Amino acid sequence: MEAILKIKGLKSYYYSGQNVIPAVDGVDLDIYPGEIVGIVGESGCGKSTVVRSLMGLLDPVSSKREGGQAIYLGKDLFQMKEKELCRIRGKEISMIFQNPLSALDPVYTIGDQIVEIIRIHEKISKKEAYEKAVFLLKQVKIPSPEVRIQQYPHELSGGMQQRVMIAIALACNPKVLIADEPTTALDVTIQDQILSLLKELRDQLGIAVILITHNMGVVAAVCDRMLVMYGGAVVEEGKCTELFENPCHPYTRGLLAAIPSIKERKEKLYTIPGQVPKMKVPVQYCRFCSRCSYAQEVCHEKEPGMQGENGHLYKCFYTPQQQEKEKCGPGGVAL
Ligand code: ADP
Ligand code: MG
Repeated sequence: MEAILKIKGLKSYYYSGQNVIPAVDGVDLDIYPGEIVGIVGESGCGKSTVVRSLMGLLDPVSSKREGGQAIYLGKDLFQMKEKELCRIRGKEISMIFQNPLSALDPVYTIGDQIVEIIRIHEKISKKEAYEKAVFLLKQVKIPSPEVRIQQYPHELSGGMQQRVMIAIALACNPKVLIADEPTTALDVTIQDQILSLLKELRDQLGIAVILITHNMGVVAAVCDRMLVMYGGAVVEEGKCTELFENPCHPYTRGLLAAIPSIKERKEKLYTIPGQVPKMKVPVQYCRFCSRCSYAQEVCHEKEPGMQGENGHLYKCFYTPQQQEKEKCGPGGVAL
């Protein structure tokens, strides 16, 4: 199957005073129709910057896309004229965010907002657009949609607001839906409902979903494939089943160890020691070396390439077996 969207060598940097922050530093990502791909990693690793670059939402004053391609159905989004882009961004590729309330207008009803979006993209009457809005609210499982549609955003719970955002994102029949931490602000039970909804929509509509989260549990619940990001780069990627069973990058193992287990609830959750480092550009060392308990001299001297097979790739000089053998430096933590 052809990828619907192919991101290649994406680089986006932030500039603040003398500092250059390589927030996204050579990211590749292929998305196939009908799959849910997770991008996971700690806060600050560059997840949002990947999709902001894609959607043209980078602040032009403090940031710049330094390179890369985003091939959507054979054409590079980054080379397209504004007019063509407008047809794709927000329509064929749509997006939902962590905080739905900030994206909804408080002074208009839910219905007015959905109808407006529909009518921007489709030449249909107000009445038809209203009927479509009710249909969309049903599709995202909002109970009594005819009542809800007349309400204002603040009259809905956080979970219902996020469903409205999903309805708006679906209004133009997108082929790709990007969800940036869509459940982070929600209670766990509501989070599960929204994740199930995303899965159902993928099954029913065949859309591709990019799900961004800092939470491995969320990835485990819904994603088919995942990319683990660290310090602006992908450090491991593969099918979720494969990656959860056989994580190869020390950082991925750290993230997995940090998932709370219901069966054996530990006193204290494991956290990966240290912080995401400030990096000098170009990066000429393993981004994770300062926190890695297996790091050797070479890890401080050059950046490893991806190794692995069958779509399960990881950015480390050593296989998991070699990592075990080499461990552990002073103060090293066995993961
Ligand atoms: P994530 O979504 O994974 O939490 P982001 O993509 O938001 O990460 O940020 C990646 C890096 O870029 C972080 O180091 C962050 O501090 C930096 N960054 C994000 N936005 C800005 C900005 N507007 N100006 C300067 N640095 C930024
Ligand atoms: Mg983010």
